Amino acid sequence: MTNSSVQPALRLQNIKYAYQKDQTLILDIPFWELSAGSRIFLRGASGSGKSTLLNLLSGLLLVNDGELSIAGTQLSELSASQRDRFRAKHIGVVFQQFNLIPYLSVIDNVLLAAHFVKSLSVDIEKKAHELFAQLNIPESLYRQKAMHLSIGQQQRVAIVRALLNSPDILLVDEPTSALDAENRDAFMRLLLSVVKAQGASLVFVSHDLSLAGYFETTLELDSINRVQTNRLEFSTAGVAK
Ligand code: ADP
Ligand code: MG
Repeated sequence: MTNSSVQPALRLQNIKYAYQKDQTLILDIPFWELSAGSRIFLRGASGSGKSTLLNLLSGLLLVNDGELSIAGTQLSELSASQRDRFRAKHIGVVFQQFNLIPYLSVIDNVLLAAHFVKSLSVDIEKKAHELFAQLNIPESLYRQKAMHLSIGQQQRVAIVRALLNSPDILLVDEPTSALDAENRDAFMRLLLSVVKAQGASLVFVSHDLSLAGYFETTLELDSINRVQTNRLEFSTAGVAK
């Protein structure tokens, strides 16, 4: 057992983020901690900073100020290559657009992720096959190019890729918008059962409050972020003088 399992899944203290140093703050979070194994729904309006926050949690962006740790490791203290390695080992990310490589097969898309941590082995292939089975991806699809998959299939392949290295935490950016209600329900149930079986923490972000029912805990981004969505949207409207 690694030390990371007793550390909080994530811990943010006085973090601030603006895309450019002198520009409007997008995120100003005094404190946010999530215990290991938590699976939460983080809701926020469109433009409230959900994707930005996930990029910070995955170390693709760095906070301007404050401390951000994943499983006890402060990401800004790592070099860029250490951060890439840390992400590959500890963090699974499912982007809004899935980011599959269209001309690669399903299996190659998934195994490519393992290449980056130099852990390609029989075990990894076995794990990939297990995850494919759990996520209802039939063997007949393994050699299909990603571009020939339906949105629902792409989404499930992206989940397999993100879970392949048994990450401590899975970050999922509102992927359900393109699915109809029935497929969305099946997807959400599948996602939560697989993440639970893996023992990973989950931060799932969306604007859609109707997804809250799938989670034990729902958190409004506005409740942890000092930069309020309403203020952003209405800041220029002002009050009649
Ligand atoms: P959400 O995912 O909640 O819809 P985002 O994190 O994408 O919100 O965006 C939050 C704010 O940051 C928005 O005002 C958006 O315009 C701005 N933003 C997002 N990405 C960039 C970027 N690369 N450069 C500058 N501003 C950005
Ligand atoms: Mg977004």
